[in-house]
Amino acid sequence: MLVDYHLHTVYSRHAVGSIEAYLARAKALEMEEVCFAEHSPRPFLPEKVQETIPYKWMRDHELEGYLTDVAEAAKKTPIRVRRGLEVDYFPGYDEAVGEFLTGLPLDFALGTVHFMPSHDMQYITLIEEAPVTLLLEYFEYARQAVESGLFDSLAHIHLVWQAVPWPEGGSEELAVEEALAEVVAAARAQDMCLEINTRAFNFEGFGSREVYQKYISLLADYGVPITLGSDAHAVDQIGRNYPEIIRELHHHGIHEVAVFEKRERRMVPLGRKTTKVAVGR
Ligand SMILES: [Zn+2]
Ligand SMILES: [Zn+2]
Repeated sequence: MLVDYHLHTVYSRHAVGSIEAYLARAKALEMEEVCFAEHSPRPFLPEKVQETIPYKWMRDHELEGYLTDVAEAAKKTPIRVRRGLEVDYFPGYDEAVGEFLTGLPLDFALGTVHFMPSHDMQYITLIEEAPVTLLLEYFEYARQAVESGLFDSLAHIHLVWQAVPWPEGGSEELAVEEALAEVVAAARAQDMCLEINTRAFNFEGFGSREVYQKYISLLADYGVPITLGSDAHAVDQIGRNYPEIIRELHHHGIHEVAVFEKRERRMVPLGRKTTKVAVGR
C-alpha cells in the first residue's frame, strides 16, 4: 500500500498548494492513504518560551480551521485522509503537550526536534557546532521525545546528520552510532514508530546514503515500526524518492508501514502490490 504520512499545507506559511491539489496529486500517484501533519501551534509552551523560537508557523487560532479544511477535503476524494500534527518537542513540557494533544481530534501525532534549546532555539540545520557534540545533543533530545510517550512517530531524525558530517571511524563514530541506536531502542521500548522521511534521499547538506542505511539497519534490527512520509511542502514533492526508498526498506527486511486512525496504529504492506516481487532482482 502506498501512503504518505507527512504532508504540509499553506497553514505552515512556508508550503504552497491547496489541500485539494495535494489530494489530486496523491490520487494520481495511486496513494491509498495520506496524512497531513502540519506544524502545530505551541500553546503548550509558556509565552516567553514561545517567543524564543524563531519560527511561529501555524497560529493558535488557525488550528481549528486547519482540522476542518482537511476534514472537508477528505469528503471529496476516494483516498483515506488522516488528520495529524507535527509537534515540536522541548524537554520539560511533557504534561502540557499531553493535555494539548488529547484535547484534539487527531489521527496522528508526529513528534519532532527542529530547535535546539542548547543553542538558543536555533533551527538544527543552521547551527555551527562541533559535529560530534551536535549529533550527541540532537540524539539526546530525540530520545527524550521518544521516551515522553507523547507521539506516534518521530520525524526526520536525519536533519542532524544533514547539518554536520558524520564522524568517520574511531571512538567518535562509535559514540554517535550508539546514541542513534539508543533512540531506536527507546522507540522499541515505547512501542512507537520512527519516520522514514523521504526528503532524506535528496541528500542535502552532509546527508549521505551510507548513514541513512545505518539508520534503516537499526530500525530493522530493533524491529521498530516505521511511518513513511515525503514532508511535502509543494504538490510535486508528494511521494518524493519513494521507489528508491521502498526498495531500500525491502532490502533491509522492512515490508510494512504504519497507518493511524484516531491514534490507533495498524500495519499495512509497504509499497505497491508488485513492489515486493521486484525486490532482489
Ligand atoms: Zn519537520
Ligand atoms: Zn514537516
